[in-house]
Amino acid sequence: MKEFKRGLCWLRRDLRLEDNTALHQALTQCDEVLICFIFDEQILNHLRSEFEYFEQRASDPRLGYIYESLLELDQNLNQQYNSQILIRYGHPVEMIPQICKQYKIEKLFFNRDYEPQAKKRDLAVTEELNKQKIAFQHTKDHVIFEHNQVRNGSGEIYRVFTPYKNKWLDLFQKHQESFLKPLKNPAQSSFLSITDLKSEITIKDRSHWETVSKILFQTPSISAGRKSALEQLKKFKAQALAQYHDNRDFPIREGTSLISTAIRHGVVSIRELVRISIEEKTSGHQIWLSELVWREFYQMLLDTHPHVKERCFKPEYDQIKWRGEAHTFKAWCEGQTGYPLVDAAMRGLNQTGQMHNRLRMVVGSFLCKTLLHDWRLGERYFALKLLDFDLAANNGGWQWCSSTGCDSQPYFRIFNPYTQSKKFDSEGEFIKLWCPELQEYSAKWIHKPDLVTPLEQINMKCQIGVDYPLAIVDYELMRKSALEMYQEIRD
Ligand SMILES: Cc1cc2nc3c(=O)[nH]c(=O)nc-3n(C[C@H](O)[C@H](O)[C@H](O)COP(=O)(O)OP(=O)(O)OC[C@H]3O[C@@H](n4cnc5c(N)ncnc54)[C@H](O)[C@@H]3O)c2cc1C
Repeated sequence: MKEFKRGLCWLRRDLRLEDNTALHQALTQCDEVLICFIFDEQILNHLRSEFEYFEQRASDPRLGYIYESLLELDQNLNQQYNSQILIRYGHPVEMIPQICKQYKIEKLFFNRDYEPQAKKRDLAVTEELNKQKIAFQHTKDHVIFEHNQVRNGSGEIYRVFTPYKNKWLDLFQKHQESFLKPLKNPAQSSFLSITDLKSEITIKDRSHWETVSKILFQTPSISAGRKSALEQLKKFKAQALAQYHDNRDFPIREGTSLISTAIRHGVVSIRELVRISIEEKTSGHQIWLSELVWREFYQMLLDTHPHVKERCFKPEYDQIKWRGEAHTFKAWCEGQTGYPLVDAAMRGLNQTGQMHNRLRMVVGSFLCKTLLHDWRLGERYFALKLLDFDLAANNGGWQWCSSTGCDSQPYFRIFNPYTQSKKFDSEGEFIKLWCPELQEYSAKWIHKPDLVTPLEQINMKCQIGVDYPLAIVDYELMRKSALEMYQEIRD
């Protein structure tokens, strides 16, 4: 006999049965556990309005990813425990108390989420449960260290990454035994039986969930679910991790883990990733761990400085008068700027929902410092398109590119898109993947194809300005304008 008869584990961005802190707690404290997932009406309404704003069909591969991951999880619950996941659509603040009442739940368990909207929602849910005298417990799961756990000697939160990382590593060293072993669910784990849930519409009824959410669950460009994510990690470990530091900046190489979508939705745990990163001491392992720490740095920033969701981290940068014109934003979104690496990256994003980190930096810097658009526009477009969209990392990345963030590049450091292209896609292989019209252009010309004479353009079967756009702006002129624009607020 355990402390509680029946517990509810509410999954959100932790779609897994293994190494899941909230679920582990629920199974430890309760005789019987019910697992639920709610298609959150508020989130989906917002998503639909974003599709409308960008004049796109409401069809989302992230929902496809979530759907397929839940389907796999449900299958495992069926096979291992003769249970199923309970799925609802609506407002969690109404749904959770309703589920608790219907299934006589005594305690709710969930893992903490650090996004401002999610924190508000979770507070509202727990206040409701308080009124109904239902117990609840929320746990840290999404990160290794949260809130102000990593702080400097004066007890303050870090605003610069490197000292944060050093302190993070130091703390990790001291407490690592608590992260090294996967959380093992109790041997007699017991879930609510399928027969108790027989009146529920199951996750298998895809068209029902698409109809109620009014968004199509598009199949994602990467395989969803835990099984695929673990295979991806195994491959990365065997083939790329030790050379990560050498290869991670080159979009054409399979140099990075491609695990961001899986960690975003929690089909693997952050502890599982960190465990892999400390298995060996190669430079590749160490640099990869640093990237995981960047993820935590941005989670911590969003949690402790929620204003960054709407405003610049550095308030003085809110005074910038962005000079971008609407038609250049449209060209950027569509991959039609006449800057081949930028266009290839954006077309790839539009088709697959994925973009390499180096390219995110290149297109981000290009949007803000060459086309002179407000970083929030780019952030918003990425939020609609990225399979791995995560508010904290996306916001951190955009504020870094636009120099408005807490530890971002200085405003006068402006990526030259031609130099970036020559350096990180020297042969133009990535460009040719997404701009096939430039197929015949050699490595010498592909980065700046408008330098080729009109006659040679015909020989290369792609006339610039006809088959591929002319550069939409002059980089050197825009660079000067960008410096002026940033300097205006410093005078
Ligand atoms: C403008 C911009 C927007 C971004 N938006 C997102 C986003 O919405 N979601 C997202 O997960 N990442 C975002 N990033 C960070 C980074 O580009 C991706 O995490 C990375 O490309 C994912 O590929 P990977 O899994 O192969 O990464 P790897 O290089 O294998 O790194 C491993 C993991 O570390 C984390 N990570 C790596 N780099 C960063 C970083 N700079 N900041 C935060 N976490 C990092 C990710 O969880 C990643 O999966 C953004 C970066 C920029 C510059």
